[in-house]
This record gives sequence, C-alpha cells and structure tokens, in this order.
Amino acid sequence: MISEAEKYRWLGAILAKAAPDLVWRGMRVAVILPQNAGLYDSARKSRLIKLAFFDLTLGPESWRGALEAFDPTVIIAPPKMLRHFAAENVRLRPRRVFSAAETLDPVDRPVIEDFFRLPLDQIYMATEGLFAVTCRQGGLHLAEDSVFFEFEPAGEGLVTPLVTAFRRQIQIMARYRMNDLLRLSKEPCRCGSPLRCVDEIVGRMDDVFRLTSPDGPILVTPDVLRNAVLKADRRIDDFRLIQTGPDTVELRLPPTLADDAAVAAHQAVRALLETRKAVATLSLIRAPLPLETSRKLRRVECRLERAR
Ligand SMILES: [Zn+2]
Repeated sequence: MISEAEKYRWLGAILAKAAPDLVWRGMRVAVILPQNAGLYDSARKSRLIKLAFFDLTLGPESWRGALEAFDPTVIIAPPKMLRHFAAENVRLRPRRVFSAAETLDPVDRPVIEDFFRLPLDQIYMATEGLFAVTCRQGGLHLAEDSVFFEFEPAGEGLVTPLVTAFRRQIQIMARYRMNDLLRLSKEPCRCGSPLRCVDEIVGRMDDVFRLTSPDGPILVTPDVLRNAVLKADRRIDDFRLIQTGPDTVELRLPPTLADDAAVAAHQAVRALLETRKAVATLSLIRAPLPLETSRKLRRVECRLERAR
C-alpha cells in the first residue's frame, strides 16, 4: 500500500537519480514492466516529462509500433526485453537505457550495449521500493538517502539486505528482509557520491541450490553456477540451470548451440558440483529457450519448496 504523495516521491526519486541531466531537455520515458502500478500514469501530466507505459505481459507484438512511434529518450525494461529488442532490431535510439525488475545477467549486457551503442545502466527496485540506481560513472549506488540498509552475510562474500524506509507512512517497512543476494563494493565510486555501491546483484536467495554432501548440507550460489556454464564455452549466451529435486539438476541449452559447447558446459557444472562434493545428478536437455513475458527470467533457479 502506498499513498498518492508517496507515489510521487518515489517517481521523483527514480527520475532524479536516473536522468537528472535530461529532465530539462524534454524526456520521453518508456517504461516496460509487468504491471501498471498506477504510479506511472501520474507522470504523463508533467510538461517536462512524457511517460508511456507498455505492459510486458501483453508481449512486444502488441505495442512494438506504438513504442517506436513514441521514440523514447529513456527506456526502462527488464534485460530479457532489451535483449529481445536487439534480436528483433527494433527501431529505437534512446539516450539512456536502464535494466530493471530482473537480475541483470552479465551474459545479456554486451548484447544490449552493442545494439543501443550505450552503456547499460540499472534500476534496482521492487514492490518494496527503490533500492539502487546506476550513476553517470557506472556505479550502482544504494538509495541510502531514502532507505536504511542493514546486511546479513549469506556466504561467499555475499549479503542479503534488510531495508527500513523512514518516509513511508501508509505501510511501514521496518527491517524487511529482502530476498536478494548482493555483492557490496569495497571501493568508493569515482563520482564522489557517499552512497554505497553494489558490485553486483547476484540473484535471489531462493535460487541458491541446496544440496547434500557427505559432510552435510551445502549451498551453491547462483553466480558460481552461472559462471561455470558461461566460462565453459564463449559461444554460450543463454541457458537454464534448474535444481528440480533434492539431488537432481537440469541444464537446458538451446539446440542451436554447438554440441561440443553443450558438452563443455555439462562437464563444467558437473565438475563444480563434484568439487563441492554435492550428491546430485546433472542432466543435459537440448530445447529452445523461448521469451517468457509472464514471469521473471531466472537462468539459475531452485524449484525446491523452501524450508525456512
Ligand atoms: Zn557513482
């Protein structure tokens, strides 16, 4: 729940952090997210900002023409959709592009940056609020000016944040434990901002693989699993790695990928699991990986019921 005043404050915070230099030059902001939270309609009334919302769940076929005609200067969309624009060669020439609403996987970044010929920035937000935005120097800064962050260690140098928002009055948010895994930066940003930087949003705590070993239960984080697949062969630019049961893992690769690359990825993940002494069977499945607009893309996913 959020009040009208809080909605505007949130929207202001996003725009102020995302494009402070563009606001005076007439921005056309295209927001492509799963649902219209009602937040975005309000900005259409502004003289300085034209905002258009495109419903992700309807699929790009239904609004591609309207998006191209809108000719946005700023695009905010999940990375899978930005990548889809590249694959479909959609006619867009924004001045700034933000990945939002899903974890940005390093495998998508070069494809998107090459297509738009721009550095890809990030907005880290959830229904719980706005948590981080990339600065003009490329640092992903936590929104510590509006949210208080505490961190719990999650192993492997990763943390999960607890967030407290002091300015929300309709629904309070006090020490709310987020599901995300972050790698915090040890260095201050070149831009001089005192807001702490995040090196990487690694994924969700839910997607940590929970396996057993002769030495007891073990956890394998999504970044380690993802890197094992991607480093196995440079031709791999998409995959799914899913823990389907207490001791079963599926690696899905598209049939268009060369067989030797698929075998290399299979071996790399198996070697990783063996190093951790995980008791698990890894199966390789060759199947197309279609664009899904109805759910968040998670390349590494744990489908076990989570026992808290
Ligand atoms: Zn910075």
